[in-house]
Amino acid sequence: TGLSNRFHFEEVLRVMTASSRRAGDSVALLALDLDNFKHVNDTLGHAVGDLVLQEVVRRIAACLRSNEGFARLGGDEFAVILGGIHSPAEVSAIANRIVEQFQGPLLIGGTEVFCGLSVGVALFPADADEPHELLKCADIAMYRAKQGEHSKICFYEDRYQAEFKRRATIKNEMNRFLKDSQFRLFYQPIVEAGSARIVGVEALVRWPDRSPVYYPDEFIPIAEESRLIDPLGRWIARTAVQQLASWHQSGFPSLYMSLNISPVQLLGGEFTEFLIRELGESAVETSAVTLEVTETTLFKDDNKIQSELTTLSNNGFGVALDDFGMGFSSIAHLMRHPVNAVKLDRSMQMDVFSDHRRRQMLEGLTLMLQKLDFQIVAEGVEFEEQRALCEVLGIHRLQGYLFGKPMSADEMTARLRRAMP
Ligand code: C2E
Ligand code: MG
Ligand code: MG
Repeated sequence: TGLSNRFHFEEVLRVMTASSRRAGDSVALLALDLDNFKHVNDTLGHAVGDLVLQEVVRRIAACLRSNEGFARLGGDEFAVILGGIHSPAEVSAIANRIVEQFQGPLLIGGTEVFCGLSVGVALFPADADEPHELLKCADIAMYRAKQGEHSKICFYEDRYQAEFKRRATIKNEMNRFLKDSQFRLFYQPIVEAGSARIVGVEALVRWPDRSPVYYPDEFIPIAEESRLIDPLGRWIARTAVQQLASWHQSGFPSLYMSLNISPVQLLGGEFTEFLIRELGESAVETSAVTLEVTETTLFKDDNKIQSELTTLSNNGFGVALDDFGMGFSSIAHLMRHPVNAVKLDRSMQMDVFSDHRRRQMLEGLTLMLQKLDFQIVAEGVEFEEQRALCEVLGIHRLQGYLFGKPMSADEMTARLRRAMP
């Protein structure tokens, strides 16, 4: 690429911040990262990857006055130093110009390659008054830009530091808790609509009994991103299957277990095999295990996800689409993937008695799903009126606080015993 390396770059950064200190103006540090370079490398090969990098450098350089503060810091990470800055607007203008260069495809040897770019910006001395700190801030901002759905450019803000630290803490704690198996698995009853008889349970992971407590909505995404979901997901599946085997042996032979599966697990490629092996070694039939996937999972990498789900389904596992009615609720996805059950999102239960249209929607959706022969589970049933409505609509199974919150295996066992005739 002909760019300077990290060592030279840090030297330039030191010199420029020092002279800015004397001049009383600002230095902007831009951290740039290609969005799907790994995918490009994996699918088109490294030779094409190299050509892509060269083209990327050409396009960024075209937006800069000089290449002096332009460096490649890692595989697909670049940084740009802009000196003599007097307002964030100046930086915005340049960052926007750079990002615009990546809106269309890159033409590499006649092939169109799509490669987005995310930019994080940190300002000296406003955000950090020391080069290393500045680099860290730009990195944090870049990370935010990657997460964001709307903007590819993100300016550093102080609160990001706190969030970043919180995520790092959660990740470290997870690592530690995983090593000494301290996570807990809770179970929430799923009941038959008419009789309220418990027919299944959903396994829900819980943070160890420590403070501060974190919730799955926060730590699962961090586990996915750091790939800790692989060991965590295996532990969850193994624990849940062993628990189910024990319930089957102690008088509840028809109970089923619902497991939440993250797309990262399916894309990783080894989870499917692991599950099949695990069930093979246990006394539990695959048909007693349902795998819950969300719609975003089906959006990820259609072919890979579809083939993994098909393998699992062919092996007898049930597949349920979780949180239906919350996101896109695409019928196309329902039809294309081997899904046999649909879980209606908790939000579908809200306001069904005060809002006529919401109720019509629940009715219509249920009717459609019944016509298509999906097993239907309503989530988040909290009140008797909701239960009664679900029953009238012919929704087969219900789950929610009305029938029980997620509870420990022992509590669940006691609950099952109490319900025995
Ligand atoms: P989900 O799979 O849709 O799970 C249902 C969530 O709704 C659970 O939250 C449950 O505690 C909560 N819930 C159940 N009934 C009611 C109700 O009547 N009212 C209200 N307000 N809430 C109810 P939880 O356990 O905090 O889990 C949140 C999400 O985190 C789950 O949504 C799931 O997507 C994910 N998650 C939880 N455990 C696991 C896991 O073991 N693996 C994976 N990959 N994801 C998990
Ligand atoms: Mg679920
Ligand atoms: Mg759900």
